[in-house]
Amino acid sequence: MPLAIVKNKEQNSDPSDKNPESPLLKHTVSEFRQWRQEVNGPLAIVPTMGALHDGHLSLIKMGRQLGHKLAVWIFVNPLQFGPREDFGSYPRTFEKDLETCSRAGVDVVFCPSVSEIYPHGKDNCATVVPPPELAGILEGSFRPGFFTGVATVVTKFFNIMRPDIAMFGEKDYQQLLVVRQMVFDLNLPVSIQAVPIVRAQDGLALSSRNAYLTLEQRSAAPLLFQTLKMVETKIRAGQPVEQALNEGRAAIEKSKRFELQYLEARDSLTFAPHLEAENPLVVLVAAKLQGVRLIDNIVLRD
Ligand code: AMP
Repeated sequence: MPLAIVKNKEQNSDPSDKNPESPLLKHTVSEFRQWRQEVNGPLAIVPTMGALHDGHLSLIKMGRQLGHKLAVWIFVNPLQFGPREDFGSYPRTFEKDLETCSRAGVDVVFCPSVSEIYPHGKDNCATVVPPPELAGILEGSFRPGFFTGVATVVTKFFNIMRPDIAMFGEKDYQQLLVVRQMVFDLNLPVSIQAVPIVRAQDGLALSSRNAYLTLEQRSAAPLLFQTLKMVETKIRAGQPVEQALNEGRAAIEKSKRFELQYLEARDSLTFAPHLEAENPLVVLVAAKLQGVRLIDNIVLRD
């Protein structure tokens, strides 16, 4: 199956330039729209910032199973990075990503340039999408502006790509709920499909940012998941949620490796802080491991 590539000219060279089996080279919003018009039937999309790993691949596989046309978007969105965050150093492995998509049977990769998406620059984006209230806590309080950047770019890409369904990972649990809420509130004609977290064997949630970890830091990183499991076990055993969270916080702080930002429990559907015993809950953690920010969560479903 030919892979159509709608790529960012400012990024790496495009292997499909040399590949006669990839005839559809498109670089712009209008070129993607033309491709979309010619697609018969529904479209599934997988939004990513690239540096693809098995977590992304799980979204791609789930999208593939739908039997729709499948598009992956690769765009490191400057609008969702704070001034002191890692936009400049964010891992970019474009050629490898294309191979991954091609092998996984993706139909089109949409990879526009920053100037294509923000023609006047990301700081001169006159209209942005304010995220719903649930964006104000946890990630939103540690990363001001992050969810405005996410809500804006997701809205723009939904308008450009007109997907019928979009796959989002539970790895970014709050983002998933923000997007769901936005889609509901704005009547966006797209279904949001949640995909479970893919982990390394030692429990660390796969993330493009794991590439920042030294070997030594990498061996310390699974403590976050171990702590989530410990909190889960205690809650399931009947311990009050706040007490279990306090023990989890203490375990992370005792390690002296992490700077804990939050370890919190929320209603997994509404994100409400007041947990009803019968409601499913999600326990979420964010911590910096010597400067590398990691997030993870665990959903207690039953
Ligand atoms: P990113 O490229 O980090 O913006 O992630 C793109 C999408 O992949 C988001 O919906 C993430 O939640 C999802 N994702 C990233 N890592 C994982 C993982 N380990 N398991 C499942 N989904 C993931």
